Parts: sequence; C-alpha cells; structure tokens
Amino acid sequence: MQQKITEIYNYNNHVSFEFFPPKTSHGLKQIYQSIVRLKNMKPDFFSVTYGAGGSNAEKSLEIASALTNLAQVNCVAHLTCVGMDRDQVEDLLKSLDYHGVNNVLALRGDPPAGEKRFVKPANGFAYASELVRFIRERSDMGILVAGYPEGHSENPSRDDDFKHLVEKVEAGADGIVTQLFFDNRFLFEMAENLEKAGVTVPLLAGIFPISNAKQIIRITELSGAKLPDKLKAGLERFADSPEDMEKFGTDYAVEQIEALLAGGVNCFHFYTMNRHRQIREILSQLKSYFPRLHFWE
Ligand SMILES: Cc1cc2nc3c(=O)[nH]c(=O)nc-3n(C[C@H](O)[C@H](O)[C@H](O)COP(=O)(O)OP(=O)(O)OC[C@H]3O[C@@H](n4cnc5c(N)ncnc54)[C@H](O)[C@@H]3O)c2cc1C
Repeated sequence: MQQKITEIYNYNNHVSFEFFPPKTSHGLKQIYQSIVRLKNMKPDFFSVTYGAGGSNAEKSLEIASALTNLAQVNCVAHLTCVGMDRDQVEDLLKSLDYHGVNNVLALRGDPPAGEKRFVKPANGFAYASELVRFIRERSDMGILVAGYPEGHSENPSRDDDFKHLVEKVEAGADGIVTQLFFDNRFLFEMAENLEKAGVTVPLLAGIFPISNAKQIIRITELSGAKLPDKLKAGLERFADSPEDMEKFGTDYAVEQIEALLAGGVNCFHFYTMNRHRQIREILSQLKSYFPRLHFWE
C-alpha cells in the first residue's frame, strides 16, 4: 500500500519528481530508464501528468499504475476536468483506486486547443476547487493542487488568484505544488501569504532544471514565468553549446534550491521532462541537505 500525501510530509527536506506520458516507444524507454534511476534515490513520490483535454488519459493511468504496482513507489496522478462530467471523473477515480493509486493532483486544466476560455462541461466543474470538494466528499485519497507564485495566466489579478488557491485548500487539498519559477522572490511571497492566511499544508516548490534555451523560452511564454537577468544572460551565452547550457542549468538550480532552503522552503518538486542525469547531478551537489536520498548508483 503506497503512502498518501498526508503520511509523507513532515519536518524533513522533501523531493518529488514529475513525469509526462511519452508519445513514442523511444520516449517510453526513456521514461522507464529515468524512473529506475530516480527511484533508486528514494524520493517521496513520482507524479504523472494528464494530457491536455485528457488526450493521453490511458497512458497516464498506465504509467501511474506501473509506478504504483511495478516500481512500488508513492505516486500522484494528475487529473484535469476538461471535457469530463461528474460521472466520468468518478469513473476515473474508481480506476485509480483499482490500480492502487491513492494520490491525485486535482486540476481544472487548460481550455481545449483553439479555444480561448475554459467552458465548464455540462454536469462538470468550472474550477479546480469544485473538483477537490467532489473528490474529498467521496474518498480519502491524498489531494494536491496547483499554485502559481507569479499568478495564473488567465487571471489579471495575482491577489485574486491567490484567494482561489486558498479556496482549493479549504475545499480539502493536502498540499500545493507550484508552477515553475526562476525568481525565488515570488515563492517567498507566496509562502508568506499562505502563512498569513493560516494555510499550513506543505508547499512544494516547482523546480525546472534548465538544459535547453529554446525549451525554456517556450515554457516561460506558456507559464508567464519571469526570467531574471542572470538567467537570460546564461541562456544567450550558452545557446549554442548543449553541454555548457546543461552545466549552467545545473548550477542555476543548485543555487536556486540553496537559497530557497535558506529561506525556509523544504519541499521541492522537480519537472524532470522524463530525464534523470541532470536531476541526479543537482541533488548530489545538495546531498548534505537531503540525508534521506540515496546516491549509490
Ligand atoms: C504543478 C502543476 C501541474 C500541472 N499538471 C497539469 C497536467 O497534468 N495536465 C494539464 O493539462 N495541465 C496541468 N497543469 C496546468 C493547469 O491545468 C493550468 O494551469 C490550468 O489553466 C489551471 O488549472 P488549475 O487547477 O490551477 O485551475 P483553477 O485553480 O481552477 O484556476 C483556473 C483559473 O480560474 C481562476 N479561478 C479559480 N477559482 C475561481 C472562482 N471561484 N471564481 C473566479 N475565478 C476563479 C484562477 O485564478 C485561475 O485563473 C499543471 C499546472 C501546475 C502548476
């Protein structure tokens, strides 16, 4: 029986890894290799994303099941409510339960491709907070939600978006995983505001290790994450040298995490992009902060 979010988090420093379901058989080989290498480090959990609009729902479930039953690690399955009514969400929750997956990251999801605004499906959910409440009423599974240190792209008011984050916790969430960010000030502000609002569930800082300039530019355009000058300069300087770029990205993540730890943040969720080498390198440089992680292989 895998652990639930509420059973995992305590005063220690924590690490978790996010994967996405690959589209090709080569990608599948890569993800399983990475899972094996990262599993050996004994992180707190692995999470698996859910395709926009449920496009890869089956693969997502398959990987979550493999993590739970074959790799026997704690698993969090992402779940969005795009294009699903309440019965379909309930069926998906039953499938997760059948496969022994007992944690979800409950999301509203993005509007389907080509549509500007999210439209609530008939008999579905308008916001993630409604999905959280629905799950909590039916099950005692662990529930995480998404938080946006720089605000959510659809909401012009960062304060208003923060208010809705608190609603998700009030609806029954056990923890918050943040969107990627590169400027720690946004995370510190969020942590302070959560404390002021009396929110005590764990805040997992989303760390994106940089290895490719084009990818970062695309991802920051989508997420709205701001790039500090030092990061912009590195992206320009090493754009034509993949090795130097990866080294720069590793150094950036190590410094970012050290500064977060110094500021009292102790939970880190890595956007692995299904890779393992750089993550292992980053964490091995931070070994002394994470005594429960294993590095023997
Ligand atoms: C850690 C993390 C993991 C993710 N994983 C996936 C994934 O696996 N698959 C995927 O498709 N997407 C994923 N996403 C992206 C996510 O689906 C999008 O950012 C989506 O647009 C918002 O989802 P949400 O759950 O944060 O929505 P919500 O919390 O519902 O917020 C959506 C918008 O509505 C506003 N809002 C919320 N409640 C109210 C209210 N009561 N009244 C008015 N406005 C309100 C918010 O401010 C925000 O602008 C992930 C994001 C993060 C940070």
